Amino acid sequence: MVQHSRGDTTWSVDADALQVLTNNDWLQSFPQLIEHDLEEMHTAFPRWFLAVGRGDQPAQCHCSVHDYIAPHCGGLRCLSCSGSELSTHQYSALIWTGLLPVQISGADGVERRIRRQQREQTLRLPTTESGSTLYLLVPIRVVYPSSWPNEAPRGYYTREFFTTLGVPPPGTSHTHHMLSGLHMCLFQRWQRMSIAEVMQNRIAPHALAQVVIANGDTPRRWFN
Ligand SMILES: [Zn+2]
Repeated sequence: MVQHSRGDTTWSVDADALQVLTNNDWLQSFPQLIEHDLEEMHTAFPRWFLAVGRGDQPAQCHCSVHDYIAPHCGGLRCLSCSGSELSTHQYSALIWTGLLPVQISGADGVERRIRRQQREQTLRLPTTESGSTLYLLVPIRVVYPSSWPNEAPRGYYTREFFTTLGVPPPGTSHTHHMLSGLHMCLFQRWQRMSIAEVMQNRIAPHALAQVVIANGDTPRRWFN
């Protein structure tokens, strides 16, 4: 059973608990797909986890923490209080969420801005460094379509990514490869691949391109 973790909290993912999700018949028809994504994501993005929600938004528990609802301990339960008081049939979306390290070093203007925000303690997103290379940890969520894997998953940024880069969040934009609602335009035509492959081959270059554009440059290429 795959373990997910966030901060100090670790839980075993209960894939069977996802069977109650509405609008996702593929979970019953092809249970091997979610098992495959769980294994692969655990290896490639070990700090990412699965949550449930509605539309494109993760659900929040009614407890004081308003935490995510995730499949564990035999049900869809809050990660803080383990409560499952909300009736499960309300959830129709299955969402991967986590922080993606996006390289900032090389985009000099953006790096200067973020280093200044670090000094002034106004930076709203976490960073990490490898040697002298600075990475911004960008919150992203990836939502399975109801017809997975026949349609592309949907990837979303939050506003904080763009405000940290010092640019307004783009609306629908050909330059940024963005649709409205901070929704990434990742495919002209969907080619079937796993969620980890979408992350590596599409979302990571997409996020890096946003940094390059915010720096006033033109991305050399978007996707592999
Ligand atoms: Zn709760």
